[in-house]
Formats: sequence, C-alpha cells, structure tokens
Amino acid sequence: MTEIKNNKGTRTTQFSRQGKSEKLNAGAKVFRFYLKTFGCQMNVADSDMFAEYLQKCGCLPTENINDAEIIIINTCTVRQHAEDKAFSFIGELKKIKDGKKIVVTGCVAELYGEQLRKMFPQVDLVIGAKNIERFPELIGELVDSYSKIRPVKTGRYKNEQRVTAFVTITRGCDNFCSYCVVPYVRGQEKHRPIKEIIDEIKQLAEQGIKEVTLLGQNVNSYKCDDTDFADLLEEVHKIDGLKRIRFLTNHPKDMNDKIIDMVANLEKVCEHIHLPLQSGSDKILEMMNRKYTRKDYLNLVEKIYKKIQGIALTTDLMVGFPTETEKDFRETLNMVKEVNFDSCFCFKYSVRKKTSVSKLPDDIGLETKKERLQVLLELSKEITLANNGKLLNTIQELLIENTGDSPYNGRTRTNKKVLIEGNPVISSGQIINVKINKISSSLLNGVRS
Ligand code: SAH
Ligand code: SF4
Repeated sequence: MTEIKNNKGTRTTQFSRQGKSEKLNAGAKVFRFYLKTFGCQMNVADSDMFAEYLQKCGCLPTENINDAEIIIINTCTVRQHAEDKAFSFIGELKKIKDGKKIVVTGCVAELYGEQLRKMFPQVDLVIGAKNIERFPELIGELVDSYSKIRPVKTGRYKNEQRVTAFVTITRGCDNFCSYCVVPYVRGQEKHRPIKEIIDEIKQLAEQGIKEVTLLGQNVNSYKCDDTDFADLLEEVHKIDGLKRIRFLTNHPKDMNDKIIDMVANLEKVCEHIHLPLQSGSDKILEMMNRKYTRKDYLNLVEKIYKKIQGIALTTDLMVGFPTETEKDFRETLNMVKEVNFDSCFCFKYSVRKKTSVSKLPDDIGLETKKERLQVLLELSKEITLANNGKLLNTIQELLIENTGDSPYNGRTRTNKKVLIEGNPVISSGQIINVKINKISSSLLNGVRS
C-alpha cells in the first residue's frame, strides 16, 4: 500500500499491486474502510453487518475517508431529499477516488442498479437492497484482485464498546402504502427463522450486549411456522444476560392484544411503542392504503394506555399528501393532541416513482407543505416538552450507553436520552436509577439516586 497525494494535495492511500498476496489481517497491511449510512434503522443494521463482516476479515474502520481503501455508501430513497443527499455524496467522491474502491449499497443502489455506475464512473460496485445478504460474496469478488477478504471466524463481530444492537427479524414489506417506495426497493416481506434470531441474540448477550432492538418494516406481522411476533418476544425475553428488548416498526393494522399483553407483562420489553399514524384524516388514510381509520387507531391507543403502565407512544406523520386540505391537516393536529405522542417524526410528502399515488398530481405546493410541517413540529415539540416536564424529580431507570467522555448518558425505558450529572463511577451496560433534575424537549438531565 502506498501513500500518495492527489491533485488537491489531500493525503490518500492506494491499493498496491504487490498487496495481492497480503493477508488483510497481516500486521500494518490491513485495509481500512469508511462507511457512510443514510436513512432508517434498517440501513444502520445493514451497515453494522457490513462493518462486522469487514472487521472479521481483518479490515479496520476509519473515520477519515482519505485514509480508506474501501468506501461504502449505504443509501436511502424513501424521500427525494434522501436520494439527493446520497447522489451529492457519491458525486464528491470523484475528487478523492485515487484507486479507492467505492461501493454503493441500499435503496438507491436497488432503484438505479448498474445505471449508477454510468452516472458516477468512480463507483466500482452496486449492491441493491434486495441483495444485501450477498454483501460478503460481492465485496470479496471486488477486492479479490488485490487480496482475499475472508472471514476469520463465524458469528457477529464483537464490538467491545457497544451495549445495544439491532437485530433484523424481517426484511421487505408487502403493505404497499400508496406513497411508499420500500416494497419496490426492499422487496417482499421475508421473515428470518426464529432459531437464527435467537442464536444471534444469545451470542450478542454473551458478548455483553444488554439491549436489542428487533427490526423490520412491520415487525408485528412476523411469522415463522407457528411463532408470531408476540411469541418471539417471549422467546427473546428468556435469553440470559439480556436486560432490555425494543422493537421497530409497528403497523397499527397488525398491532394486536397478544403483543400489547407481552409488552405489558414481560419485564425486559421496554415501555415504548413507535406506531406510525401518517395522517389523522380518514380520507387521506384511505388514499394512503393504511387499512385503519382514525377511530381504529384511537381504540388501539386506548387499549395500549390502559394495559401498559408508563408507555410512551411515538409516531411518523406526513404533511402535504395529494389533496390534503386544511381540514385534513387539522385532523392530524387533533390526533397528535389526543394521543399525546411523546415525539413525532414529521415529513413533507415526496413523490416516489413506482408508487401508486405518484400518478396523482403533487398538488400541495412546497410553501404549504413547509408551513404545515412547521405547525406540526411546533405542536409536537410543545407536547414533548410537557411530557418531559412530568418527569422532573421522578426516578428513571437508565441503561448506560457510554463510558467515554463525560457527561455519561443513558436511555430511559421509554427511550429518552438522559445526561448524567456529576461524575458517578459507572460503566457502559450498567442499569442505574437517576433523578431527573432538568428537562428540554430533546434532552433530560439527571443525578444518580
Ligand atoms: N415501515 C415503516 C416506515 C418506513 S418509511 C412504517 O410503515 O411505518 C419511514 C417513514 O417515512 C414513514 O413512516 C413515512 O412517514 C415516511 N415516508 C415514507 N414514504 C414517504 C414519502 N413518499 N414522502 C414522505 N414521507 C414518506
Ligand atoms: Fe412503506 Fe407502508 Fe411498508 Fe411502512 S408499511 S415500509 S410505509 S409500504
């Protein structure tokens, strides 16, 4: 491997031809990879898988893109903005290419395929979201001309610092919400066998992971032979060493009593449910093909509040969906108040090719979308602040997620981040109680109690 300077004088590194026979994990000759992730937790989980695989092969992660021999950009295309960000990032890589291997993965990669390499000749490999599981094989083929990327052991890579992990339980989606590109880029819903999931979590727990988040576009519809999602929660709960279980994302049409009862009764399952509403208007919900009404959603929420003490509900909302009137929008605002969401992720509707609603005119102007988004964000922030205010002077259980720089931080069972004041002797992975003494809409402060 030789260090070179590109024409901008930036220090970069290059694969060396003599490096062909070098082992990846041989002393100083290791390859370094830089990983950039856009998008949702599913992408974060996929990026974790890439990083773990490469590290098992002896490659090292680097935060400095100029030092990397392999650059991986894991992309998202759920909204135009996400796609634009990925394109702009990939475009910039032309300047630092210098023999680096550039790999584009994820949803943009799936949507554009090999066309991406024509648009950006600096790209060496495209791995679409439907092919993610072939990452080891495809990345191996890419770098084989220089060296062999081969795993040195099986199972998940042990990351000493981490105490939380994502575990994918389903891939793809069959729901075809009329605005959403996910079913087209991630493909049909597929469920991982329960044994594989349990074995992976057992291994993670043995490595010191205290909290897992079970991931899927709609975890509620998980099925493996006779096992449904509620049964899966029960099985994961039995794993020794694991302290907390979370899950994402839920679909109101598939959230049922059995799952609610599990969340209520299983100690390790945290009191937080992310339940995307999207809109408070029945007309819009029907156009979205969400398969529930405002009333159905409210009935579900009532049941959840009644059965699960201390539950925090969060949601996803969209503004400016085609034909959305002021009245429709006000219905969304009313729902936000009525449900009292702990926090809301709010988006402006963005036309996605292939989706059924893309045939309708995108008739709500950008200014109106921006105004509605602003109003919604302000309301949501107000409610979050009021809810956080109720936590002042209460004792909250935290899982400590860092040992590094002070102040230490952790998350409540309801998934709120808390900075711990003072310098208590604690370590990552520990569960402690803190008394909340300061709040804002985005952060809590507390002292060990
Ligand atoms: N499977 C998850 C969501 C995945 S996409 C679910 O059903 O909730 C995450 C969020 O992005 C969605 O909940 C939705 O609010 C938003 N989103 C999806 N497509 C969008 C689009 N075309 N325009 C704007 N927001 C969109
Ligand atoms: Fe998209 Fe709907 Fe599937 Fe969520 S449930 S990924 S919004 S199609």
